[in-house]
Amino acid sequence: MEWEVVIGLEIHAQLKTASKIFSGASTQFGAEPNTQACLVDLGYPGVLPVLNSDAVSMAVRFGLATHSSIAPRSIFARKNYFYPDLPKGYQISQYELPVVHDGWVDVVLDDGSRKRVGITRAHLEEDAGKSLHEDFHGLTGIDLNRAGTPLLEIVSEPDIRSAKEAVSYMKLIHQLVRYLDICDGNMQEGSLRCDANISVRPIGRHEFGTRAEVKNLNSFRFIERAINYEAERQIDIIESGGSVVQETRLYDSGKDETRPMRSKEEANDYRYFPDPDLLPLTIDLQTVESIRADLPELPWEKRERFVESYGLSDYDAGVLTTARNMADYFEAVASGVGDAKLAANWVMGELSGALNKAGVEIENSPVGPDALKGLLVRIADQTISGKIAKDVFESMWAGEGSADEIIDSKGLRQITDSTAIQAVIDQVLVDNPQQLEQYRAGKDKLLGFFVGQVMKATRGKANPAQVNDLLRRSLDA
Ligand code: ADP
Ligand code: MG
Repeated sequence: MEWEVVIGLEIHAQLKTASKIFSGASTQFGAEPNTQACLVDLGYPGVLPVLNSDAVSMAVRFGLATHSSIAPRSIFARKNYFYPDLPKGYQISQYELPVVHDGWVDVVLDDGSRKRVGITRAHLEEDAGKSLHEDFHGLTGIDLNRAGTPLLEIVSEPDIRSAKEAVSYMKLIHQLVRYLDICDGNMQEGSLRCDANISVRPIGRHEFGTRAEVKNLNSFRFIERAINYEAERQIDIIESGGSVVQETRLYDSGKDETRPMRSKEEANDYRYFPDPDLLPLTIDLQTVESIRADLPELPWEKRERFVESYGLSDYDAGVLTTARNMADYFEAVASGVGDAKLAANWVMGELSGALNKAGVEIENSPVGPDALKGLLVRIADQTISGKIAKDVFESMWAGEGSADEIIDSKGLRQITDSTAIQAVIDQVLVDNPQQLEQYRAGKDKLLGFFVGQVMKATRGKANPAQVNDLLRRSLDA
């Protein structure tokens, strides 16, 4: 039997507000435990939550970017459960009326095709604290700094059909929240994490199978592995005559397997009810329109523009628009050099390679866009060859100066004087009579040997196109 995997993701994005969603406490990551939780976050009696309007604008930004409806009126609800890192005994979330609903995004798959994934809803909620098990022998530490941090929970339709599609969708959301500047996207710190709902069904069947939910996946690799493992597990169960139980599971990356965490709770277990401490959230049309007017160019818009105005391939445009910083860097270089393809190749190749190797973000690159532009201009005007340019780039990276300074101080200017090149060629032919004879006897593969000799004699500085041209003429004479 052939199986189809069905996946829906619930992504939690931590919003980049300065303070918490219902209190004035700071949201800064990495502070001493329990130094950033105020009385509201701790659930003291007699205190009241006040909604952070920045969190609301961020949710609306996301909604507008994903073609979603923005609810003119939405409600905060209490989701009741006990856990040591939840001092109030309930989490404030949105349940029946979320602020954002019914949207979609077009995800670019690995083969370049587009696939539409529905956004069921995106709602605002507060995060809980953290339970720390490692440093406390036989005890659990509780850090409430994260309690009350604003989250946007983005729920997709069950439109995703493979682990790879799920990763592509997650990458798009990661890219989008960073473009919108509403989440730092730091998956290692947990700023963006997802729960994957997974089921399988025989190909051709209309009804969905029973799903399991795998919690808290915080890397693209884990998402892919957890889904593949879980789909296989479910197929094995069904093929051996069993049936999948609806439950919440945990992915263990060390063992690369999922295992049960708890049986799936029903919504009514949480006794959701509207939070009497908070008014309904109302958003008027004017506010929505002013947020819309303020939206940046979106990733897919930028990608399309890069194809249209720079003549790049869809793939290259996709790589260059992965992050806004990289796109900005590329545009700054391309505009000055006038050869977009050259700029694209260098940003995606040499520059990205060096940044990866050094573990440096593009905004902190030791070679900035102006400096790289200075180098590429010298390739474009034939002062240096692309090969020499790589050496110059290395020197620039090491802080030895601008492209022009390095070219001058190291005497790297390309030789384009054909008389000078011809003189070198003549000498090379005199020095290698045997190879010359073989070449003229029909072994034309030796052209490469002669090119190599000329380049060696000029220390790589001769213009390669001219060398080829003049050599061929001399050899065939
Ligand atoms: P809950 O409230 O229990 O988390 P929801 O109905 O809100 O459940 O769905 C949560 C997620 O599960 C959504 O992303 C949805 O697309 C996905 N989902 C629902 N049914 C299935 C299924 N049979 N297989 C895979 N994913 C599913
Ligand atoms: Mg859920």
